[in-house]
Amino acid sequence: MRRYDYVMAGGGMAGLSLAYAITGSRLAEKSVLIVDPETKGENDRTWCYWTRAGHPIEPIVSHVWSALRFASHSWTHDFDLGDYRYAMVRGDDFYRETLDRLEQHPRVEFERGRVIAIHDEDGCARVETDQRSVLATWVFDSRFEPQEYEQRSGPHHYLKQHFVGWIVETQQPVFDPHTPTLFDFRTPGHGEMRFFYILPFSEHRALVEYTLFSAELLSDAEYVRAIETYLRDVVGVTEYRVVDRERGVIPMTDEPVVRREGCRTLAIGTRGGRVKASTGYAFRRTQLDSQAIVESLLRHDHPFHLPAAPRRARMLDTMLLQVMYRRGELSERVFTALFRRNPIDRLLRFLDEETSLAQTLAVMATVPIPPFLAAFWRTHVLKKV
Ligand SMILES: Cc1cc2nc3c(=O)[nH]c(=O)nc-3n(C[C@H](O)[C@H](O)[C@H](O)COP(=O)(O)OP(=O)(O)OC[C@H]3O[C@@H](n4cnc5c(N)ncnc54)[C@H](O)[C@@H]3O)c2cc1C
Repeated sequence: MRRYDYVMAGGGMAGLSLAYAITGSRLAEKSVLIVDPETKGENDRTWCYWTRAGHPIEPIVSHVWSALRFASHSWTHDFDLGDYRYAMVRGDDFYRETLDRLEQHPRVEFERGRVIAIHDEDGCARVETDQRSVLATWVFDSRFEPQEYEQRSGPHHYLKQHFVGWIVETQQPVFDPHTPTLFDFRTPGHGEMRFFYILPFSEHRALVEYTLFSAELLSDAEYVRAIETYLRDVVGVTEYRVVDRERGVIPMTDEPVVRREGCRTLAIGTRGGRVKASTGYAFRRTQLDSQAIVESLLRHDHPFHLPAAPRRARMLDTMLLQVMYRRGELSERVFTALFRRNPIDRLLRFLDEETSLAQTLAVMATVPIPPFLAAFWRTHVLKKV
């Protein structure tokens, strides 16, 4: 049986990011196998993130903005991001950059197939794919089945961030190319967290995305109707060309993740809980995780020595999910308060789980208190969803 130092069960964003980080480090001589049924290359998603610490994979950042807009029915504001930048990475650029390096690397192999099971063996793991079995010193598992997520149940929240986005081109100059819109609540909420997200590439071209944080998906026609209405009534444009489309579903759950799945297996990416439960952001968190895994392998000879998020971050994610789930109609008020009453850098640090206890409390003091107390009571005292 062939033996590899590292096997990636799944070669999507997380598997490729980790393999890329390994081959760019002092572990570059280790053998790596990446197993995935799909051939990556299409522009299947656009990743955005904010950062003040440089970009994890610099050459593939296609847009960087230094401002962000927040809009709701009662208040609209453009934030200068100060030290922060909001950055965008196109899926096809990410796959090209990572695959170019990995495919040329003499110690990296790819297998088009599925990982069926991973077993602990004496001092290694045996990875069963639909074609063969191999041995691995360490396995990094990012397999994620959306259908399986649909069936999960238990005393946790299982919301989804679901969205449909259009890249539109207009005759008139209607977009502000300097300022992406993180939230625009000027769309009917129907008792849920619903908003628009806009990435402007020029005055005439932007990604306009209808986004919901809720339990159930909509019909295709409902997404389309909402985008058409928003473009007409809020952006003020009726003549445009849809040149590309994006859609996606991201799990938003506070179900605790077991990262150490076996003696030799670490869960990474979505499976490893790298999607921030209350925002759906995962790209930058996954890059930081990849760096931490490489660091752990180098220093400790295993991949499990990883920084843990503060417990309060999980608690707050649960409360935010609870408010969105039970009191979705308050979402606009809650987010308006968060953006209106906090300096933007404090808010971004809060969402990155980097605030001190005092700063975290300061942020929480800005939201409407009764629904959060009710959420705390229900989730942490009654232990219900
Ligand atoms: C459209 C879209 C837009 C997003 N935008 C952002 C954003 O702007 N910012 C952000 O931070 N996050 C964003 N996310 C969330 C998150 O960053 C992505 O979902 C990211 O791709 C997650 O990485 P992953 O490796 O966990 O999953 P994936 O990239 O989906 O990779 C999982 C891989 O596992 C493979 N696989 C599944 N089963 C098996 C099996 N049995 N054996 C082997 N391989 C298997 C799949 O084929 C897939 O390639 C977005 C998500 C989507 C869907």
